[in-house]
Amino acid sequence: MVISDGPSMLVPDFPFAYDTYLAHPAGLGRVPDAALGTEVAVIGAGMAGLVAAYELMRLGLRPVVYEAGEIGGRLRSQAFPGAPDAVADLGGMRFPASGRAFGHYLRVLGVRTSPFPNPLAPQTPSTVIELAGRSHYAETAEDLPPVFGEVSRAWATALADGAELPALRAAIAARSPSAIKSIWNRLVPALDDESFSGFLARSPSFADFHHRELFGQVGFGTGGWDTDFPNSMLEILRVVATDADDQHVRIHGGAQSVPLALWRRAPSQLHHWTPGASLESLHGGSPRPAVRALRRRPDGRIGVLDRWGTERAYPAAVSTVQSWLLSAGIDTDESLFSHDLWMALERSHYMQSSKTFVLVDRPFWRDRDPSSGRFVLSTTLTDRMTRGTYLLDGGGGLDDPDAATRPAVVCLSYTWNDDALKWLALPTDERVRLMLHSLRQIYPDLDVASHILGEPITISWEREPHFMGAFRGNLPGHYRYQRRLFTHFVQDALPPEHRGLFLAGDDISFTPGWAEGAVHTALNAVWGVVHQLGGHSAPGNPGPGDRFTELAPVDLDG
Ligand SMILES: Cc1cc2nc3c(=O)[nH]c(=O)nc-3n(C[C@H](O)[C@H](O)[C@H](O)COP(=O)(O)OP(=O)(O)OC[C@H]3O[C@@H](n4cnc5c(N)ncnc54)[C@H](O)[C@@H]3O)c2cc1C
Repeated sequence: MVISDGPSMLVPDFPFAYDTYLAHPAGLGRVPDAALGTEVAVIGAGMAGLVAAYELMRLGLRPVVYEAGEIGGRLRSQAFPGAPDAVADLGGMRFPASGRAFGHYLRVLGVRTSPFPNPLAPQTPSTVIELAGRSHYAETAEDLPPVFGEVSRAWATALADGAELPALRAAIAARSPSAIKSIWNRLVPALDDESFSGFLARSPSFADFHHRELFGQVGFGTGGWDTDFPNSMLEILRVVATDADDQHVRIHGGAQSVPLALWRRAPSQLHHWTPGASLESLHGGSPRPAVRALRRRPDGRIGVLDRWGTERAYPAAVSTVQSWLLSAGIDTDESLFSHDLWMALERSHYMQSSKTFVLVDRPFWRDRDPSSGRFVLSTTLTDRMTRGTYLLDGGGGLDDPDAATRPAVVCLSYTWNDDALKWLALPTDERVRLMLHSLRQIYPDLDVASHILGEPITISWEREPHFMGAFRGNLPGHYRYQRRLFTHFVQDALPPEHRGLFLAGDDISFTPGWAEGAVHTALNAVWGVVHQLGGHSAPGNPGPGDRFTELAPVDLDG
Protein backbone atom coordinates (compact mmCIF):
# COMPACT_ATOMS: atom_id res chain seq x y z
CA MET A 1 0.00 0.00 0.00
CA VAL A 2 1.39 3.40 -0.92
CA ILE A 3 0.70 6.00 1.79
CA SER A 4 2.11 9.08 0.10
CA ASP A 5 5.27 10.28 -1.48
CA GLY A 6 7.92 11.98 0.58
CA PRO A 7 10.50 10.95 3.11
CA SER A 8 9.91 8.19 5.62
CA MET A 9 11.70 6.84 8.64
CA LEU A 10 12.06 3.41 7.08
CA VAL A 11 14.91 2.60 9.41
CA PRO A 12 17.58 0.70 7.48
CA ASP A 13 18.35 -1.78 10.27
CA PHE A 14 14.77 -3.07 10.17
CA PRO A 15 12.95 -1.50 7.21
CA PHE A 16 9.47 -2.47 8.30
CA ALA A 17 6.83 0.02 7.11
CA TYR A 18 5.12 0.85 10.40
CA ASP A 19 3.09 3.58 8.69
CA THR A 20 1.33 1.25 6.23
CA TYR A 21 0.97 -1.37 8.97
CA LEU A 22 -0.90 1.17 11.13
CA ALA A 23 -3.01 2.47 8.26
CA HIS A 24 -4.16 -0.97 7.07
CA PRO A 25 -7.97 -1.24 7.31
CA ALA A 26 -7.76 -4.80 8.68
CA GLY A 27 -6.02 -3.53 11.81
CA LEU A 28 -3.16 -5.05 13.76
CA GLY A 29 -4.60 -8.48 14.51
CA ARG A 30 -6.70 -10.57 16.88
CA VAL A 31 -6.26 -12.38 20.16
CA PRO A 32 -8.20 -15.58 20.87
CA ASP A 33 -11.65 -14.94 22.36
CA ALA A 34 -10.51 -16.56 25.62
CA ALA A 35 -7.79 -13.94 25.94
CA LEU A 36 -10.10 -10.92 25.50
CA GLY A 37 -10.01 -8.70 28.58
CA THR A 38 -6.68 -10.18 29.75
CA GLU A 39 -4.65 -7.67 31.74
CA VAL A 40 -1.24 -6.68 30.35
CA ALA A 41 1.05 -4.42 32.38
CA VAL A 42 2.47 -1.36 30.61
CA ILE A 43 5.21 0.35 32.59
CA GLY A 44 5.59 4.01 31.73
CA ALA A 45 3.04 6.42 30.23
CA GLY A 46 5.29 8.14 27.69
CA MET A 47 4.69 7.87 23.95
CA ALA A 48 5.78 4.21 23.77
CA GLY A 49 3.70 3.14 26.77
CA LEU A 50 0.60 4.91 25.55
CA VAL A 51 0.86 3.66 21.97
CA ALA A 52 1.31 0.12 23.32
CA ALA A 53 -1.59 0.52 25.76
CA TYR A 54 -3.87 2.14 23.17
CA GLU A 55 -3.31 -0.59 20.59
CA LEU A 56 -3.59 -3.39 23.18
CA MET A 57 -6.90 -1.87 24.26
CA ARG A 58 -8.13 -1.71 20.66
CA LEU A 59 -7.32 -5.41 20.32
CA GLY A 60 -9.55 -6.20 23.30
CA LEU A 61 -6.85 -6.64 25.95
CA ARG A 62 -6.83 -4.66 29.19
CA PRO A 63 -3.65 -2.58 29.48
CA VAL A 64 -2.75 -1.64 33.05
CA VAL A 65 -0.53 1.43 32.82
CA TYR A 66 1.93 2.30 35.60
CA GLU A 67 3.53 5.75 35.72
CA ALA A 68 5.98 7.28 38.19
CA GLY A 69 5.54 10.89 37.06
CA GLU A 70 3.46 12.64 34.45
CA ILE A 71 1.57 11.15 31.52
CA GLY A 72 3.72 12.02 28.52
CA GLY A 73 7.20 11.18 29.79
CA ARG A 74 9.79 13.00 27.74
CA LEU A 75 7.08 14.67 25.67
CA ARG A 76 6.63 17.08 28.55
CA SER A 77 5.22 20.56 28.00
CA GLN A 78 4.86 23.30 30.55
CA ALA A 79 2.68 26.39 30.13
CA PHE A 80 3.85 29.71 31.54
CA PRO A 81 1.65 30.97 34.37
CA GLY A 82 -0.83 33.52 33.08
CA ALA A 83 -0.15 32.70 29.44
CA PRO A 84 -1.65 29.25 28.86
CA ASP A 85 -1.05 29.43 25.10
CA ALA A 86 2.68 29.96 25.58
CA VAL A 87 4.15 26.53 26.14
CA ALA A 88 7.69 25.27 26.67
CA ASP A 89 8.39 21.83 25.23
CA LEU A 90 10.95 20.49 27.67
CA GLY A 91 11.65 17.26 25.80
CA GLY A 92 10.62 16.47 22.21
CA MET A 93 9.69 19.70 20.43
CA ARG A 94 10.19 19.19 16.66
CA PHE A 95 8.89 16.25 14.73
CA PRO A 96 10.06 15.30 11.24
CA ALA A 97 7.67 14.79 8.34
CA SER A 98 9.36 11.43 7.79
CA GLY A 99 8.19 10.20 11.21
CA ARG A 100 5.06 8.74 9.70
CA ALA A 101 4.11 6.31 12.45
CA PHE A 102 4.12 9.17 14.98
CA GLY A 103 2.37 11.20 12.24
CA HIS A 104 -0.33 8.50 12.07
CA TYR A 105 -1.26 9.29 15.68
CA LEU A 106 -1.14 13.04 15.04
CA ARG A 107 -3.72 12.49 12.31
CA VAL A 108 -5.89 10.12 14.32
CA LEU A 109 -5.89 12.53 17.25
CA GLY A 110 -6.50 15.60 15.09
CA VAL A 111 -3.43 17.38 16.49
CA ARG A 112 -2.60 20.74 14.89
CA THR A 113 0.98 21.43 13.86
CA SER A 114 2.99 24.22 12.27
CA PRO A 115 6.53 24.30 10.85
CA PHE A 116 9.25 24.45 13.50
CA PRO A 117 11.58 27.46 13.17
CA ASN A 118 14.89 25.61 12.80
CA PRO A 119 18.03 27.49 11.73
CA LEU A 120 17.81 28.49 8.06
CA ALA A 121 14.46 26.72 7.58
CA PRO A 122 12.15 28.47 5.09
CA GLN A 123 9.73 29.46 7.88
CA THR A 124 12.49 30.98 10.04
CA PRO A 125 12.72 34.75 9.60
CA SER A 126 16.48 34.86 10.15
CA THR A 127 19.42 32.88 11.51
CA VAL A 128 22.66 34.00 13.10
CA ILE A 129 25.66 31.69 13.22
CA GLU A 130 28.32 32.96 15.58
CA LEU A 131 31.64 31.17 15.79
CA ALA A 132 34.94 32.29 17.28
CA GLY A 133 33.56 35.77 17.86
CA ARG A 134 32.37 36.28 14.27
CA SER A 135 28.70 36.62 13.61
CA HIS A 136 26.99 35.72 10.31
CA TYR A 137 23.43 36.88 9.64
CA ALA A 138 21.26 35.06 7.09
CA GLU A 139 17.65 35.11 5.99
CA THR A 140 18.40 32.29 3.55
CA ALA A 141 21.40 29.96 3.30
CA GLU A 142 22.60 31.97 0.28
CA ASP A 143 23.28 34.96 2.58
CA LEU A 144 26.08 33.07 4.36
CA PRO A 145 29.73 33.43 3.30
CA PRO A 146 31.01 30.88 0.72
CA VAL A 147 32.80 28.79 3.37
CA PHE A 148 29.44 27.54 4.63
CA GLY A 149 28.65 26.27 1.15
CA GLU A 150 32.04 24.53 1.10
CA VAL A 151 31.22 22.80 4.37
CA SER A 152 27.83 21.73 3.12
CA ARG A 153 29.39 20.25 -0.03
CA ALA A 154 32.12 18.56 2.05
CA TRP A 155 29.41 16.84 4.11
CA ALA A 156 27.53 15.68 1.01
CA THR A 157 30.78 14.34 -0.47
CA ALA A 158 31.80 12.58 2.74
CA LEU A 159 28.40 10.87 2.93
CA ALA A 160 28.46 9.84 -0.71
CA ASP A 161 32.04 8.55 -0.64
CA GLY A 162 32.09 7.00 2.82
CA ALA A 163 28.50 5.95 3.42
CA GLU A 164 26.75 5.38 0.05
CA LEU A 165 24.15 7.93 1.13
CA PRO A 166 22.58 8.77 -2.26
CA ALA A 167 21.96 5.07 -2.98
CA LEU A 168 20.67 4.48 0.55
CA ARG A 169 18.30 7.42 0.36
CA ALA A 170 17.05 6.29 -3.04
CA ALA A 171 16.37 2.81 -1.65
CA ILE A 172 14.48 4.30 1.31
CA ALA A 173 12.51 6.61 -1.00
CA ALA A 174 11.62 3.58 -3.15
CA ARG A 175 10.58 1.78 0.06
CA SER A 176 12.54 -1.25 -1.06
CA PRO A 177 13.63 -3.34 1.96
CA SER A 178 15.92 -5.55 -0.15
CA ALA A 179 17.72 -2.56 -1.70
CA ILE A 180 17.98 -0.85 1.70
CA LYS A 181 19.38 -3.94 3.36
CA SER A 182 21.87 -4.73 0.63
CA ILE A 183 23.50 -1.35 1.26
CA TRP A 184 23.02 -1.04 5.02
CA ASN A 185 24.25 -4.56 5.80
CA ARG A 186 27.56 -3.54 4.21
CA LEU A 187 27.74 -0.26 6.09
CA VAL A 188 27.09 -1.66 9.58
CA PRO A 189 30.30 -3.69 9.85
CA ALA A 190 32.27 -0.94 8.08
CA LEU A 191 31.10 1.88 10.36
CA ASP A 192 30.09 0.31 13.68
CA ASP A 193 33.44 1.13 15.28
CA GLU A 194 33.64 4.58 13.73
CA SER A 195 32.80 7.73 15.66
CA PHE A 196 31.14 10.71 13.99
CA SER A 197 34.29 12.82 14.41
CA GLY A 198 36.50 9.94 13.19
CA PHE A 199 34.36 9.59 10.07
CA LEU A 200 34.70 13.30 9.33
CA ALA A 201 38.44 13.38 10.04
CA ARG A 202 39.05 10.42 7.71
CA SER A 203 36.94 11.93 4.91
CA PRO A 204 39.21 13.62 2.33
CA SER A 205 36.54 16.28 1.81
CA PHE A 206 36.95 17.31 5.46
CA ALA A 207 40.75 17.40 5.51
CA ASP A 208 40.63 21.02 6.69
CA PHE A 209 40.09 21.13 10.48
CA HIS A 210 38.38 24.52 10.19
CA HIS A 211 35.71 22.92 8.01
CA ARG A 212 35.12 20.22 10.63
CA GLU A 213 34.91 22.85 13.33
CA LEU A 214 32.44 24.89 11.36
CA PHE A 215 30.43 21.80 10.54
CA GLY A 216 30.27 20.92 14.23
CA GLN A 217 28.67 24.28 14.78
CA VAL A 218 26.18 24.36 11.96
CA GLY A 219 25.79 20.63 11.35
CA PHE A 220 22.92 19.57 9.21
CA GLY A 221 19.27 20.48 9.78
CA THR A 222 19.10 21.54 13.41
CA GLY A 223 22.71 22.53 14.05
CA GLY A 224 25.11 22.04 16.93
CA TRP A 225 26.29 18.56 16.05
CA ASP A 226 29.78 18.61 17.54
CA THR A 227 28.28 17.43 20.82
CA ASP A 228 27.51 14.21 18.90
CA PHE A 229 31.08 13.82 17.66
CA PRO A 230 31.92 10.94 20.06
CA ASN A 231 28.81 8.97 19.03
CA SER A 232 28.73 6.11 16.55
CA MET A 233 28.65 7.24 12.93
CA LEU A 234 25.82 4.77 12.36
CA GLU A 235 23.58 6.85 14.67
CA ILE A 236 24.22 9.95 12.58
CA LEU A 237 23.77 8.14 9.31
CA ARG A 238 20.36 6.84 10.34
CA VAL A 239 19.22 10.38 11.11
CA VAL A 240 20.41 11.67 7.75
CA ALA A 241 19.21 8.71 5.69
CA THR A 242 15.71 8.82 7.15
CA ASP A 243 15.35 12.63 6.97
CA ALA A 244 14.75 12.71 10.71
CA ASP A 245 16.52 16.04 10.91
CA ASP A 246 14.48 17.80 8.28
CA GLN A 247 11.02 19.36 7.74
CA HIS A 248 10.14 19.59 11.41
CA VAL A 249 6.79 20.56 12.84
CA ARG A 250 5.88 21.73 16.32
CA ILE A 251 2.69 20.81 18.04
CA HIS A 252 0.10 23.39 18.96
CA GLY A 253 -0.53 23.36 22.68
CA GLY A 254 2.75 21.50 23.25
CA ALA A 255 4.06 18.02 22.49
CA GLN A 256 2.53 16.57 25.65
CA SER A 257 -0.92 17.04 24.16
CA VAL A 258 -0.21 14.00 21.94
CA PRO A 259 0.22 11.38 24.72
CA LEU A 260 -2.53 13.06 26.73
CA ALA A 261 -4.90 12.81 23.77
CA LEU A 262 -4.03 9.12 23.33
CA TRP A 263 -4.81 8.56 27.01
CA ARG A 264 -8.23 10.20 26.66
CA ARG A 265 -9.26 9.04 23.20
CA ALA A 266 -12.14 6.63 22.77
CA PRO A 267 -11.16 4.75 19.59
CA SER A 268 -13.82 4.21 16.95
CA GLN A 269 -12.69 0.65 16.21
CA LEU A 270 -12.48 -1.35 19.39
CA HIS A 271 -12.75 -5.07 20.14
CA HIS A 272 -14.40 -6.35 23.27
CA TRP A 273 -14.81 -3.05 25.13
CA THR A 274 -17.98 -0.99 25.24
CA PRO A 275 -17.87 1.86 22.71
CA GLY A 276 -16.59 5.01 24.40
CA ALA A 277 -13.95 3.16 26.43
CA SER A 278 -10.59 4.90 26.65
CA LEU A 279 -7.37 4.28 28.52
CA GLU A 280 -8.50 6.94 30.96
CA SER A 281 -11.85 5.27 31.59
CA LEU A 282 -10.33 1.78 31.92
CA HIS A 283 -8.00 3.18 34.59
CA GLY A 284 -10.59 5.18 36.50
CA GLY A 285 -8.84 8.39 35.48
CA SER A 286 -5.23 7.81 36.47
CA PRO A 287 -2.42 5.33 35.81
CA ARG A 288 -1.33 3.01 38.59
CA PRO A 289 1.65 4.14 40.72
CA ALA A 290 5.35 3.76 39.98
CA VAL A 291 6.72 0.24 39.65
CA ARG A 292 9.14 -0.78 42.38
CA ALA A 293 9.93 -4.40 41.44
CA LEU A 294 9.48 -6.94 38.67
CA ARG A 295 9.79 -10.67 39.23
CA ARG A 296 8.82 -14.06 37.83
CA ARG A 297 6.12 -15.60 40.01
CA PRO A 298 6.02 -19.34 40.69
CA ASP A 299 2.99 -19.67 38.35
CA GLY A 300 5.15 -18.27 35.50
CA ARG A 301 3.40 -14.92 35.34
CA ILE A 302 5.20 -11.62 35.78
CA GLY A 303 4.70 -9.95 39.13
CA VAL A 304 4.62 -6.14 39.07
CA LEU A 305 5.02 -4.58 42.50
CA ASP A 306 4.05 -0.92 42.80
CA ARG A 307 5.59 1.64 45.12
CA TRP A 308 2.87 1.16 47.75
CA GLY A 309 3.49 -2.58 47.95
CA THR A 310 0.67 -4.01 45.81
CA GLU A 311 1.70 -6.80 43.47
CA ARG A 312 -0.39 -7.82 40.47
CA ALA A 313 0.41 -10.71 38.14
CA TYR A 314 0.33 -10.56 34.35
CA PRO A 315 0.93 -13.09 31.57
CA ALA A 316 2.80 -10.34 29.70
CA ALA A 317 4.22 -6.91 30.46
CA VAL A 318 5.70 -4.08 28.40
CA SER A 319 8.43 -1.96 29.96
CA THR A 320 9.06 1.46 28.40
CA VAL A 321 11.24 3.03 31.09
CA GLN A 322 14.75 4.14 30.06
CA SER A 323 16.76 0.95 30.07
CA TRP A 324 19.13 1.83 32.93
CA LEU A 325 16.06 2.18 35.16
CA LEU A 326 15.49 -1.58 34.98
CA SER A 327 18.44 -1.88 37.34
CA ALA A 328 18.79 1.60 38.84
CA GLY A 329 15.11 2.43 39.40
CA ILE A 330 13.25 -0.88 39.56
CA ASP A 331 14.26 -3.99 41.47
CA THR A 332 14.15 -6.28 38.44
CA ASP A 333 14.65 -9.99 38.97
CA GLU A 334 17.87 -10.79 37.09
CA SER A 335 16.45 -14.02 35.74
CA LEU A 336 13.88 -12.14 33.61
CA PHE A 337 16.56 -11.43 30.99
CA SER A 338 19.62 -13.23 29.67
CA HIS A 339 23.05 -11.96 30.67
CA ASP A 340 23.57 -10.82 27.09
CA LEU A 341 20.46 -8.68 27.29
CA TRP A 342 21.46 -7.24 30.67
CA MET A 343 24.81 -6.32 29.15
CA ALA A 344 23.02 -4.48 26.36
CA LEU A 345 20.67 -2.71 28.79
CA GLU A 346 23.54 -1.52 30.95
CA ARG A 347 25.78 -0.45 28.06
CA SER A 348 23.18 1.98 26.69
CA HIS A 349 24.78 5.39 26.47
CA TYR A 350 22.60 8.38 27.36
CA MET A 351 23.01 11.94 26.15
CA GLN A 352 22.46 14.76 28.61
CA SER A 353 20.32 17.72 27.67
CA SER A 354 19.30 21.03 29.14
CA LYS A 355 16.80 23.65 27.99
CA THR A 356 15.85 27.04 29.39
CA PHE A 357 12.81 29.04 28.27
CA VAL A 358 11.52 32.52 29.02
CA LEU A 359 8.18 34.11 28.27
CA VAL A 360 8.47 37.44 26.45
CA ASP A 361 5.89 40.17 25.88
CA ARG A 362 5.66 39.61 22.10
CA PRO A 363 7.68 38.12 19.22
CA PHE A 364 9.90 41.19 19.06
CA TRP A 365 12.36 39.32 16.82
CA ARG A 366 10.08 40.23 13.96
CA ASP A 367 11.08 43.90 14.36
CA ARG A 368 13.72 45.12 11.94
CA ASP A 369 16.59 47.33 12.98
CA PRO A 370 15.98 50.59 11.07
CA SER A 371 19.67 51.15 10.37
CA SER A 372 20.71 47.67 9.19
CA GLY A 373 17.33 46.43 7.97
CA ARG A 374 17.99 43.15 9.77
CA PHE A 375 15.70 41.35 12.17
CA VAL A 376 16.77 42.37 15.67
CA LEU A 377 17.08 38.80 17.00
CA SER A 378 17.51 35.56 15.09
CA THR A 379 17.46 31.85 15.66
CA THR A 380 21.03 31.59 16.89
CA LEU A 381 23.74 28.95 16.76
CA THR A 382 26.86 29.85 18.70
CA ASP A 383 29.93 28.27 20.26
CA ARG A 384 29.10 30.14 23.47
CA MET A 385 27.43 28.32 26.36
CA THR A 386 23.93 28.83 25.01
CA ARG A 387 24.71 26.89 21.78
CA GLY A 388 21.18 27.09 20.31
CA THR A 389 18.56 29.83 20.81
CA TYR A 390 15.10 29.32 19.30
CA LEU A 391 12.32 31.85 18.85
CA LEU A 392 8.82 30.51 19.22
CA ASP A 393 5.88 32.70 18.35
CA GLY A 394 3.11 32.18 20.86
CA GLY A 395 -0.49 31.15 20.64
CA GLY A 396 -1.50 29.22 17.60
CA GLY A 397 1.90 29.51 15.99
CA LEU A 398 3.08 31.25 12.87
CA ASP A 399 -0.29 31.12 11.14
CA ASP A 400 -2.04 32.88 14.04
CA PRO A 401 -2.97 36.44 12.94
CA ASP A 402 -2.80 37.67 16.56
CA ALA A 403 0.64 36.17 17.21
CA ALA A 404 2.42 39.50 16.70
CA THR A 405 0.83 41.06 19.77
CA ARG A 406 0.70 38.02 22.06
CA PRO A 407 3.31 36.76 24.51
CA ALA A 408 5.82 34.45 22.89
CA VAL A 409 8.55 32.08 24.04
CA VAL A 410 12.31 32.16 23.66
CA CYS A 411 14.25 28.97 24.21
CA LEU A 412 17.34 30.81 25.41
CA SER A 413 19.47 27.71 25.28
CA TYR A 414 19.14 24.09 24.14
CA THR A 415 22.25 22.00 24.78
CA TRP A 416 23.42 18.40 24.78
CA ASN A 417 26.17 16.40 26.47
CA ASP A 418 29.10 18.43 27.83
CA ASP A 419 27.31 21.65 26.95
CA ALA A 420 24.33 20.49 29.04
CA LEU A 421 26.57 19.51 31.97
CA LYS A 422 27.85 23.07 32.18
CA TRP A 423 24.35 24.15 33.25
CA LEU A 424 23.63 21.24 35.55
CA ALA A 425 24.83 22.73 38.84
CA LEU A 426 23.53 26.24 38.18
CA PRO A 427 20.26 27.55 39.62
CA THR A 428 17.67 28.94 37.22
CA ASP A 429 18.49 32.62 37.72
CA GLU A 430 22.19 32.05 37.17
CA ARG A 431 21.44 30.10 33.99
CA VAL A 432 19.29 32.93 32.63
CA ARG A 433 21.83 35.57 33.65
CA LEU A 434 24.63 33.80 31.78
CA MET A 435 22.44 33.14 28.76
CA LEU A 436 21.45 36.80 28.52
CA HIS A 437 25.13 37.67 28.85
CA SER A 438 25.98 35.42 25.87
CA LEU A 439 23.19 36.91 23.79
CA ARG A 440 24.38 40.43 24.64
CA GLN A 441 27.77 39.61 23.13
CA ILE A 442 26.05 38.59 19.90
CA TYR A 443 23.36 41.30 19.90
CA PRO A 444 24.99 44.28 21.70
CA ASP A 445 22.18 46.69 20.75
CA LEU A 446 19.31 44.52 21.93
CA ASP A 447 17.91 44.34 25.46
CA VAL A 448 16.34 40.87 25.52
CA ALA A 449 15.88 41.04 29.30
CA SER A 450 13.47 43.98 29.04
CA HIS A 451 11.00 41.76 27.17
CA ILE A 452 10.94 38.93 29.73
CA LEU A 453 7.73 38.31 31.68
CA GLY A 454 7.28 36.08 34.69
CA GLU A 455 9.45 33.17 35.74
CA PRO A 456 11.77 31.18 33.45
CA ILE A 457 11.40 27.43 32.96
CA THR A 458 14.48 25.23 32.91
CA ILE A 459 15.27 21.54 32.86
CA SER A 460 18.27 19.22 32.96
CA TRP A 461 17.00 15.77 32.04
CA GLU A 462 19.86 14.00 33.83
CA ARG A 463 18.58 15.47 37.09
CA GLU A 464 14.94 14.53 36.59
CA PRO A 465 13.57 11.72 38.73
CA HIS A 466 12.49 8.73 36.59
CA PHE A 467 14.94 9.53 33.77
CA MET A 468 18.63 8.83 33.31
CA GLY A 469 19.32 11.55 30.77
CA ALA A 470 17.70 12.89 27.62
CA PHE A 471 17.95 10.01 25.19
CA ARG A 472 20.30 7.24 24.16
CA GLY A 473 23.14 7.95 21.72
CA ASN A 474 25.16 4.87 20.91
CA LEU A 475 28.94 5.00 21.07
CA PRO A 476 31.15 3.25 18.51
CA GLY A 477 30.94 -0.52 18.84
CA HIS A 478 27.43 -0.52 20.31
CA TYR A 479 25.58 -1.98 17.33
CA ARG A 480 25.47 -5.51 18.77
CA TYR A 481 23.93 -4.21 22.00
CA GLN A 482 21.29 -2.28 20.11
CA ARG A 483 20.47 -5.32 18.03
CA ARG A 484 19.92 -7.40 21.18
CA LEU A 485 17.54 -4.81 22.59
CA PHE A 486 15.58 -4.20 19.39
CA THR A 487 15.13 -7.87 18.47
CA HIS A 488 14.04 -8.98 21.96
CA PHE A 489 10.34 -8.69 21.00
CA VAL A 490 10.62 -11.91 18.98
CA GLN A 491 10.74 -14.34 21.87
CA ASP A 492 9.90 -17.76 20.33
CA ALA A 493 13.49 -18.98 20.64
CA LEU A 494 13.93 -17.74 24.22
CA PRO A 495 13.70 -20.10 27.22
CA PRO A 496 10.39 -19.71 29.11
CA GLU A 497 12.04 -17.88 32.02
CA HIS A 498 13.10 -15.07 29.66
CA ARG A 499 9.74 -14.62 27.96
CA GLY A 500 6.81 -12.34 28.61
CA LEU A 501 8.50 -9.03 29.46
CA PHE A 502 8.73 -6.87 26.33
CA LEU A 503 10.91 -3.79 25.96
CA ALA A 504 9.84 -0.64 24.14
CA GLY A 505 10.80 3.02 24.02
CA ASP A 506 13.03 5.15 21.85
CA ASP A 507 16.16 3.73 23.49
CA ILE A 508 15.17 0.24 22.32
CA SER A 509 14.77 1.55 18.77
CA PHE A 510 17.48 2.27 16.23
CA THR A 511 16.40 5.93 16.22
CA PRO A 512 16.87 7.15 19.82
CA GLY A 513 15.91 10.73 20.54
CA TRP A 514 12.95 10.55 18.15
CA ALA A 515 9.38 9.85 19.22
CA GLU A 516 9.07 7.82 16.01
CA GLY A 517 11.36 5.17 17.52
CA ALA A 518 9.17 5.02 20.62
CA VAL A 519 6.17 4.28 18.37
CA HIS A 520 7.99 1.62 16.32
CA THR A 521 9.14 -0.33 19.37
CA ALA A 522 5.72 0.00 21.02
CA LEU A 523 4.19 -1.66 17.96
CA ASN A 524 6.85 -4.39 18.13
CA ALA A 525 5.91 -5.01 21.76
CA VAL A 526 2.20 -5.13 20.88
CA TRP A 527 2.96 -7.74 18.24
CA GLY A 528 5.01 -9.70 20.82
CA VAL A 529 2.22 -9.62 23.42
CA VAL A 530 -0.44 -10.68 20.90
CA HIS A 531 1.80 -13.54 19.74
CA GLN A 532 2.51 -14.59 23.32
CA LEU A 533 -1.22 -14.73 24.08
CA GLY A 534 -1.88 -16.98 21.07
CA GLY A 535 -3.12 -14.25 18.75
CA HIS A 536 -2.11 -13.38 15.22
CA SER A 537 -1.78 -10.47 12.82
CA ALA A 538 -4.67 -9.44 10.59
CA PRO A 539 -4.88 -11.23 7.22
CA GLY A 540 -3.00 -9.23 4.63
CA ASN A 541 -1.25 -7.06 7.22
CA PRO A 542 1.76 -8.95 8.55
CA GLY A 543 3.29 -7.45 11.66
CA PRO A 544 6.94 -6.71 12.49
CA GLY A 545 7.46 -10.17 13.99
CA ASP A 546 5.88 -11.91 11.00
CA ARG A 547 8.43 -10.27 8.71
CA PHE A 548 11.29 -10.60 11.14
CA THR A 549 13.32 -13.26 9.32
CA GLU A 550 13.23 -11.26 6.10
CA LEU A 551 14.01 -7.87 7.66
CA ALA A 552 16.05 -8.66 10.79
CA PRO A 553 18.98 -6.36 11.59
CA VAL A 554 22.21 -7.81 10.29
CA ASP A 555 23.91 -10.12 12.78
CA LEU A 556 27.60 -9.21 12.89
CA ASP A 557 28.44 -12.55 14.49
CA GLY A 558 26.11 -14.69 12.38
C1 LIG B 1 15.62 17.22 25.47
C2 LIG B 1 14.93 16.28 24.53
C3 LIG B 1 14.69 16.66 23.24
C4 LIG B 1 14.03 15.81 22.37
N1 LIG B 1 13.75 16.24 21.11
C5 LIG B 1 12.98 15.46 20.30
C6 LIG B 1 12.48 15.97 19.10
O1 LIG B 1 12.69 17.15 18.80
N2 LIG B 1 11.75 15.14 18.28
C7 LIG B 1 11.44 13.88 18.65
O2 LIG B 1 10.78 13.16 17.89
N3 LIG B 1 11.86 13.39 19.83
C8 LIG B 1 12.60 14.16 20.66
N4 LIG B 1 12.99 13.69 21.87
C9 LIG B 1 12.75 12.29 22.18
C10 LIG B 1 11.32 12.02 22.59
O3 LIG B 1 10.98 12.88 23.64
C11 LIG B 1 11.30 10.55 23.04
O4 LIG B 1 11.66 9.74 21.95
C12 LIG B 1 9.96 10.06 23.51
O5 LIG B 1 9.29 10.99 24.30
C13 LIG B 1 10.24 8.77 24.29
O6 LIG B 1 9.06 8.16 24.72
P1 LIG B 1 9.19 6.82 25.54
O7 LIG B 1 7.80 6.41 25.85
O8 LIG B 1 10.08 5.88 24.84
O9 LIG B 1 9.96 7.18 26.88
P2 LIG B 1 9.58 8.18 28.06
O10 LIG B 1 8.89 9.36 27.54
O11 LIG B 1 10.84 8.35 28.84
O12 LIG B 1 8.53 7.34 28.93
C14 LIG B 1 8.92 6.46 29.95
C15 LIG B 1 8.02 6.72 31.14
O13 LIG B 1 8.36 5.79 32.17
C16 LIG B 1 8.13 6.44 33.40
N5 LIG B 1 8.80 5.70 34.48
C17 LIG B 1 10.09 5.73 34.86
N6 LIG B 1 10.30 4.91 35.89
C18 LIG B 1 9.11 4.34 36.17
C19 LIG B 1 8.67 3.39 37.15
N7 LIG B 1 9.48 2.88 38.05
N8 LIG B 1 7.36 3.04 37.17
C20 LIG B 1 6.50 3.55 36.26
N9 LIG B 1 6.86 4.45 35.32
C21 LIG B 1 8.14 4.83 35.28
C22 LIG B 1 8.68 7.83 33.17
O14 LIG B 1 8.17 8.75 34.13
C23 LIG B 1 8.18 8.10 31.75
O15 LIG B 1 6.94 8.77 31.75
C24 LIG B 1 13.64 14.53 22.79
C25 LIG B 1 13.85 14.14 24.11
C26 LIG B 1 14.48 15.01 24.98
C27 LIG B 1 14.67 14.59 26.41
